[in-house]
Amino acid sequence: MIKFVDLKRQYDSNKKEIDDAISSVIEGTAFIGGKYVESFADEFAKYLGVKHCITCANGTDAIEIALKALGIGKGDEVIVPTHTWISTSEAVSLVGAKPVFADTLSYYYTINPHEIEKHITPATKAIIPVHLYGLPADMDSIMLIAKKHKLFVLEDCAQAHGAKIDGKLAGTFGDFATFSFYPSKNLGAFGDAGCIVTNNDDLTEKATLIANHGQLIKHEHKIEGRNSRLDGIQGAILTAKLRHLNKWNKQRISNAKIYNEHLKDIQQVRTPSSIEGFTHVYYVYCIKALDRNKLREHLSAKGIETAIHYPKMLPMLDAYKHIEQSHDEFKMSYEYQPYILSLPMYPELTDEEIKYICDSIKEFYSK
Ligand SMILES: *Cc1c(COP(=O)(O)O)cnc(C)c1O
Repeated sequence: MIKFVDLKRQYDSNKKEIDDAISSVIEGTAFIGGKYVESFADEFAKYLGVKHCITCANGTDAIEIALKALGIGKGDEVIVPTHTWISTSEAVSLVGAKPVFADTLSYYYTINPHEIEKHITPATKAIIPVHLYGLPADMDSIMLIAKKHKLFVLEDCAQAHGAKIDGKLAGTFGDFATFSFYPSKNLGAFGDAGCIVTNNDDLTEKATLIANHGQLIKHEHKIEGRNSRLDGIQGAILTAKLRHLNKWNKQRISNAKIYNEHLKDIQQVRTPSSIEGFTHVYYVYCIKALDRNKLREHLSAKGIETAIHYPKMLPMLDAYKHIEQSHDEFKMSYEYQPYILSLPMYPELTDEEIKYICDSIKEFYSK
């Protein structure tokens, strides 16, 4: 049986470090905020080469808090991709603004810069590119569009810890970037966790206030904020795991190469594309496959778990029945939606397992 994600293997590989991290938090009763959270924020900011890291409860809150800190709310529009996890658009609605969907690029799955421009109106305030599956969006084009139309850019880096464009890390292009440390992410906690990063001092203060009841100093509430804090245990675990992130990403990249090599001669399958100079960190290894659903059943019978990220493009969900945008605006993502399939991908996956998965795919198409 090959699991889609196997977090136990990673824990087994650094059990002592993790157990020690957890027990020091318990011994020190540093349960919420405190030194383990602060040192993680410092380390993660250093890793990215940014000035500030504001920790919070999860990656969805991170987007919502960042939008609030940018002053985005009722009457504003924010452009998001059609193809992403719902948090990206949900956070826009949660601050009272309107998510406006823009179509994606067929080979890369990230937001299409030309589609962004088509959807800009006088109400547009920001763009949220998502570095989907671990491949950075076309940030050069997106930053130019943002500059031209004076829009904020908030990078959703929930799937892109360590991804790069020409050596520059995802999360260092926009006004803000948000990360999720959901357990299965490239850098994952043992529960919910998230953060916001920026080089802007003023935005840092605003986001910090919003995430912790409007206080920088205890009991001095400058505004009404909310409770979105990070636990000490998650901070300590993330600090321990951050040391391994580059190594784990390299293993993901090497696994992707092995998949690509084994799958390249199967005509019914298209392997994921990267872009020259872009470092894809393969949070998800997504193929396009003919007869996707039947292939999925075949793999399941062979003991191989797969997933679909995501079965429905956001504008097709009931949650967005009310939007005024027509389906014709999202041709590309609708077109590839029935074919996408995510294969098992984690650093600890073995060469033999990848070969077995690819052989099983070959077997399906040769029947
Ligand atoms: C995981 C994820 C989030 C949200 O993260 P949570 O920590 O689960 O709230 C946001 N955006 C994308 C693209 C994600 O994959």
